Amino acid sequence: MRYSRQELYLGKESQEVLKKKHVVLVGVGALGSVAAELLTRAGIGKLTLIDRDVVELHNLQRQSLYEEKDEGEAKVLAAKKHLERINKEVQITAKVEDITHENVELLKSDLILDGTDNLVTRFLINEYSKKNKIPWIYAAAVSDKGYVKIYLPETDCFQCTFTETTGLDSCDTAGVLNTLTHTVASIQVTEAFKVLLQKVQETPLFHLNIWENSLTRLKTQRKEGCEVCKGNYNYLMGKKEKEIIKFCGSGSYQIKGKVKLEEIKEKLEKLGKVESFEHGIQFNQLMIFKDGRVLIKAKDEKEAKSLYAQYIGE
Ligand SMILES: [Zn+2]
Repeated sequence: MRYSRQELYLGKESQEVLKKKHVVLVGVGALGSVAAELLTRAGIGKLTLIDRDVVELHNLQRQSLYEEKDEGEAKVLAAKKHLERINKEVQITAKVEDITHENVELLKSDLILDGTDNLVTRFLINEYSKKNKIPWIYAAAVSDKGYVKIYLPETDCFQCTFTETTGLDSCDTAGVLNTLTHTVASIQVTEAFKVLLQKVQETPLFHLNIWENSLTRLKTQRKEGCEVCKGNYNYLMGKKEKEIIKFCGSGSYQIKGKVKLEEIKEKLEKLGKVESFEHGIQFNQLMIFKDGRVLIKAKDEKEAKSLYAQYIGE
């Protein structure tokens, strides 16, 4: 005999509400992959996963959705396969893309969850949410400290609390505890249930130190003169986007070109071994995506640019 899927403790009515909701998850790394799994098991209606990176072995210490055989595959494509085996009733869309002001409409949903590791993307999500009145939930985890906060259209916004120089995501952090990322994602998804079920009573900034067993709630408020709250959206207009970005997790550099995959594949095959993936191709330390981005493993920006010039051209 087969048992039917068990409801969440939230009750049948809530379960029905969740079934009608669409959540967009930006980033399916340490936080996002755990959040995606929890939402899938909870029976959310629709889940859109957006991520610009591929699975690497050093991710597996904390990104429990992935396995060794996923190495080299785009995270969202690997995630989709695993999630569909967990609950086939959830409609899952996977986008191998870097979210920018040009494709920002991908965020359109009932709720956006932050699984990114960088402030630039968070500022973009913040502006999109404010402008389109869509709630989003910030989450971050560094070493043994975690942060979670709900942003509603009517509350203060991310830019009221954080500035570009906050440096919460600096690349020289000493890694992160795998128990922390799972806990932070769990808090984030609990807050997501509250938003989706309209049971939010307050929106403090949660600060968790898992090593010291402390969870504190910090009150935040709207900042006088906040540009985003005033309706000035610099990130949505693409004013803050860079051509080359360092990915903190993998130490790779992303260069946004207008690469034509088939042409470049032909050229690189004459030079050496090219490995094909669903999302693109890999050649030495270069991963070239169908959407025209190139991820390059290099020791610094200069080396990344020189490898790009050598193999991809202008
Ligand atoms: Zn604001």
